[in-house]
Amino acid sequence: MTQTLSGKVALVTGGSRGIGAATARALAEQGADVAISYTSASSATKAETLLRQLKELGVNAIAFRADQADPVQVTGLIDQVVAYFGHLDILVNNAGILAFGEITDPQRDEATFERLMAVNLASVATGVRAAARVMGEGGRIISVSSWFASRTGIPGIADYSATKAAIAGYTRGWARDLGPKGITVNVVQPGAIDTDMNPADGPFSPGIVSTIALGRYGRPEEIAAAIVFLAGPSASYITGTSLTVDGGLLA
Ligand code: NAD
Repeated sequence: MTQTLSGKVALVTGGSRGIGAATARALAEQGADVAISYTSASSATKAETLLRQLKELGVNAIAFRADQADPVQVTGLIDQVVAYFGHLDILVNNAGILAFGEITDPQRDEATFERLMAVNLASVATGVRAAARVMGEGGRIISVSSWFASRTGIPGIADYSATKAAIAGYTRGWARDLGPKGITVNVVQPGAIDTDMNPADGPFSPGIVSTIALGRYGRPEEIAAAIVFLAGPSASYITGTSLTVDGGLLA
């Protein structure tokens, strides 16, 4: 079978588990060399296991420790990828955190708000700025948003929803900025996906599943497939848009 991404270098932020790990695998299956970023010591073990799996697919793979909340580390991550591989062709902005708290909740502290903004939003803007400087013609930028970004408001997750909606706004602008360089910029908007962030057997699951047309949570691989499509040659004329992959949750 022809591999669509041979010769390409991809960076997946927060790639040690969940949607990020599935995406790293799917990119490698298409022949891309892959870098992933991770933060915690517990993620380091998962990253090592994933790297072995990626190398078994016959590609080059490396993991860098970088906290997406720190703009210096985000910029440094892009530099490290380019120093190691010589180029960067595909950036997948996947790392993200979820934090709950209604605006009137006395437990909702400013530090949590700031971390959410830093990890989910500012890191994406910083990463795209750095990547856009080193990417050439054919570059692909794909950010992972959320169904929370386009649904009617849900109590307790306004801050998270705002970070994900802002990514869609950024994406349309960046598509205009980077179109002349031949770089496409898109969003994948997952529905409810079975990961550590939102386990299919978690407390919110029954209520969510009842709203999904296909009647089940999605698998990380089903989001990865959409990301690989947007990263590949078949998506050469797609930019500035958002691809919803939600089993009909928003239908
Ligand atoms: P997850 O919690 O398994 O993965 C999140 C990843 O981000 C992990 O690898 C984690 O280590 C990394 N990360 C978190 N903070 C980081 C930091 N400061 N620096 C570097 N990495 C950091 O959950 P997931 O579902 O795989 O999430 C992936 C993306 O998908 C996130 O952006 C999330 O918001 C989005 N998303 C998930 C769902 C869902 O239902 N699971 C739905 C919509 C969107």
